[in-house]
Amino acid sequence: MYEGAIQDLIDELGRLPGVGPKSAQRIAFHVLQSDPADVHRLAGALQRVKELVRFCTTCYNVAEAEQCRICRDSRRSGDVLCVVEEPKDVVAIERTGEFRGRYHVLGGAINPLEGIGPDHLRVRELMTRLGGGAVRELILATDPNTEGEATATYLALLVKPMGIAVSRLASGLPVGGDLEYADEITLGRAFSGRRAV
Ligand SMILES: [Zn+2]
Repeated sequence: MYEGAIQDLIDELGRLPGVGPKSAQRIAFHVLQSDPADVHRLAGALQRVKELVRFCTTCYNVAEAEQCRICRDSRRSGDVLCVVEEPKDVVAIERTGEFRGRYHVLGGAINPLEGIGPDHLRVRELMTRLGGGAVRELILATDPNTEGEATATYLALLVKPMGIAVSRLASGLPVGGDLEYADEITLGRAFSGRRAV
C-alpha cells in the first residue's frame, strides 16, 4: 500500500477490465514519471469520452452526433443490415473492408445465466428498423460462442417470417471466442462466406 494520490490511482486503474494489481501499479508509476503534458492529454481524453461520446439513435454504435459516421454515410447500402453485439464488433468488421451495409448494435447477447434476455438488448429497436421495409438481408454477426449462437438463433426465428433473408457468418471463426479477436482475413472470409439460416 502506498499513501494518498498514488494509491488512489492504483485503486482506480485496478478497477478497469483486464488490469490486475501489478499492472495497475506499473501504470501508476509510469504516469508518475511521465511528462505533465502527456498526463494532461490522457486526463483530457478520459473526460472527453464521457462528455462527447453517446450512442447513435439509429444503430446504437458509438457516435459524437445524433447519428454515427456509418449511418450518416449515404454511400452505404441500406438494404443489408449487420447485427453485432458491441460497438467494438463494428470496428472489427469495418477493418475487413468486406461490408458496405449498415449495422445494428444489440448491446450484448442473450445470457440466461446472467439474466440477460431479449428485453435487455436492442431487439425491439431492431424489429422497428426492419419493419420499415428497406432491409432485404440481415447478417447475424454475433460472437461465435454459446450466447452469440443463442442470440443469432433467437433473431433468425423472429425475423425470417418477415420475408427478410437471414445469414450467419461462416465457420472458420474460433469457436467460443470473441469477434474482435478474429484476424481481419479470417473475419473477412467468414463474412463473404456467410450462409443462409
Ligand atoms: Zn449509427
